Amino acid sequence: MEWRNGAPFNPQFDDVYFNTEGGIEESDYVFIQGNDLPRRFSALERGSFNVLETGFGTGLNFLGCAHQFLANNQCAHLNFISIEAFPLTRDELAAAHQSLEHYQREAKWLQQAWPSACDDTQTMIIHPRITLTVIFMPVEQALEQLIVCAQPQTQAWVQPCFDAIMLDGFSPAKNPDMWSKEVMQQLAVLSHSNTTLATFSCARMVRDHLQSAGFSLSKRRGINSKREVLAAKAGEKLAQPISPATTRSSQHEAPWWSFPSQPLPQRVAVIGAGLAGCQTAARLAARGIAVSLFDRHAAPAQAASGNPQGVLYTKFSHRKEPLSDLALQCYQFAQHYYRHQLDISAPWSGVLQLPKNDKDATLQRLVGQRFIQQPELVQLVDQAEASKLSGMTIRSNALWFPQGTWMTPPEVCRQLIANQRLITTHFNTTVAQLDFCSDRQQWALQSQPTLDSPHFDQVVLCTAYDAHALLDPLLPLKTRTIRGQIDRVQGDIVRQLRTTLTGEGYIAADGDGTATIGASFVVDDLDPAHRLEESAHNRHLVAQLSPQLQAEHANLTQLDARVAFRCASADYLPIAGPVPQYREMVETFAPLRKNRRMDIRNYGHYQPGLWLNIAHGSKGLNSTPMVAEMISSMICNAPSPLSQRLQRAIHPARFLMRDIFRGVSL
Ligand SMILES: Cc1cc2nc3c(=O)[nH]c(=O)nc-3n(C[C@H](O)[C@H](O)[C@H](O)COP(=O)(O)OP(=O)(O)OC[C@H]3O[C@@H](n4cnc5c(N)ncnc54)[C@H](O)[C@@H]3O)c2cc1C
Repeated sequence: MEWRNGAPFNPQFDDVYFNTEGGIEESDYVFIQGNDLPRRFSALERGSFNVLETGFGTGLNFLGCAHQFLANNQCAHLNFISIEAFPLTRDELAAAHQSLEHYQREAKWLQQAWPSACDDTQTMIIHPRITLTVIFMPVEQALEQLIVCAQPQTQAWVQPCFDAIMLDGFSPAKNPDMWSKEVMQQLAVLSHSNTTLATFSCARMVRDHLQSAGFSLSKRRGINSKREVLAAKAGEKLAQPISPATTRSSQHEAPWWSFPSQPLPQRVAVIGAGLAGCQTAARLAARGIAVSLFDRHAAPAQAASGNPQGVLYTKFSHRKEPLSDLALQCYQFAQHYYRHQLDISAPWSGVLQLPKNDKDATLQRLVGQRFIQQPELVQLVDQAEASKLSGMTIRSNALWFPQGTWMTPPEVCRQLIANQRLITTHFNTTVAQLDFCSDRQQWALQSQPTLDSPHFDQVVLCTAYDAHALLDPLLPLKTRTIRGQIDRVQGDIVRQLRTTLTGEGYIAADGDGTATIGASFVVDDLDPAHRLEESAHNRHLVAQLSPQLQAEHANLTQLDARVAFRCASADYLPIAGPVPQYREMVETFAPLRKNRRMDIRNYGHYQPGLWLNIAHGSKGLNSTPMVAEMISSMICNAPSPLSQRLQRAIHPARFLMRDIFRGVSL
């Protein structure tokens, strides 16, 4: 970005981002009023209003939209998805926002949330009721991410659609790819019968492409240097089944992952009040949905989420693969969310990740190279720097996460559900069975104690490994339980630590000479008792982190210990999304055993309104906020913050489908 005549300017496209004189008025007139947003915002009582923008630029339209949303709506949620192939940095955004006096509050929120690594896609919660997702790709490719399936519809409408579209970006003459016929057809697929569209361009090509995609157009009087601007409506025609091969994506795979949409629920039951359940309840409540939150314990966060200290950390990779893409998106999302939205008490003193062995050291070097431009996200530091940062001698290079921290998971859970008018808690309540009542189209919960009103429109299972007991036993979820013990210790050496250290084990010091060390890792062992040998093992893990800890680990005073059970999936990714109907899925997709490319045009079969959010493994602090956001969008039939590829990577039907693809007899 450059500055020309006081306006932010892009030399590559030889065009301004916006005019500093009258830029706000123009954005408001063309895009906000052009889509009739203030009136539509004030009419929305629950759920999400979904906006799609092509060309995020400096975020001006988003800032105006967020401003209008908060001024006109007190109870629902704004889901704003934008596309930007050439993202600005946080500093460039801040410079461009200086002249936007009206939107300083929203601009500050956006700058705080803006990711260091603009890679693939990033979702941010700007305000509890405003979610922004930016897809950092060329428009056509980005729209493919949003289209569930390019095959003809064979049952209920399953494509989450947008309510309003803003066609912005550099002008058609300077950036024709953004305004192509294919792009307009993709937009038609992402529209329902009431979708509106607004753009500053009245160029002939734009009008022709929009019309041929089925939009009906009207010209509006112009503003500033623009003689006329355009508004459009999708209309009934576009709500018809979409034609095959509208886009290139997914054409050759049976759309097993896609599920029919449900009416917006009045009441949702969330079962399990650990990190996954509390995050899900909070994100549903932010969309104006009433939630009943159940747990068999007397308070939230009494199982895996009950440790006094948990580290917000993740494992990055130098490769682009689902596990590492999800880790990056979740980390940037969670880090901002905990810090700026939840305002939990955490030291934010960084996390130093030491290599576990030589191979790990090589991988860390590659990660350091991948993120060399984003030192505020992660950086490779040498021994001297690592020692300075940690306050202890470190014998190797290490990865430094300056924005990492430890926090208290039970405090996070309490904060998420405190003062939430729409969340009703039912502690000391064990849910024993779920029955779908087809006459009411609701789920009935059988619980101990029984409920006065046990019927719910939708149910989200956040019950970790206990999900099996409530689901079809044939459904392969491929989870494992992993026993973990942490120890609370005290000693002078702990006071020297300036940051959290992780490696094979971890130590998180809480500033008063006490620390949590951990954690043992024993697969399929359900014994809840503390073990002396696991305490010794934890001390041994910590001793390897630094020579000072090696010298002193035996002298640490033991304060306490705690055992809990992680729930991890076979591929270490969470399991989140709609719950498959086992028999129907097997019947429909069995032919794929012989030919994976067979043209099967059925969508997946899913339990109506039943969702899973489990298997957060050892990094639930990192993954649960983003996954809760995804589930809440799905429940509101809103486009998801995660790409189709990542949704499939964590989909509850993935193991079943992998078995089918491998020819396993089911
Ligand atoms: C020793 C140890 C150390 C860890 N360290 C870290 C760390 O440093 N950083 C990190 O990010 N993660 C860490 N984790 C992982 C993290 O704790 C988990 O990923 C996270 O807590 C999972 O949250 P959850 O809500 O899915 O599960 P849980 O917290 O286990 O919640 C599930 C809840 O469901 C309830 N429930 C189940 N069935 C029913 C039913 N039928 N009716 C009613 N209620 C039911 C349970 O009572 C429970 O409260 C650690 C885990 C362990 C065990």
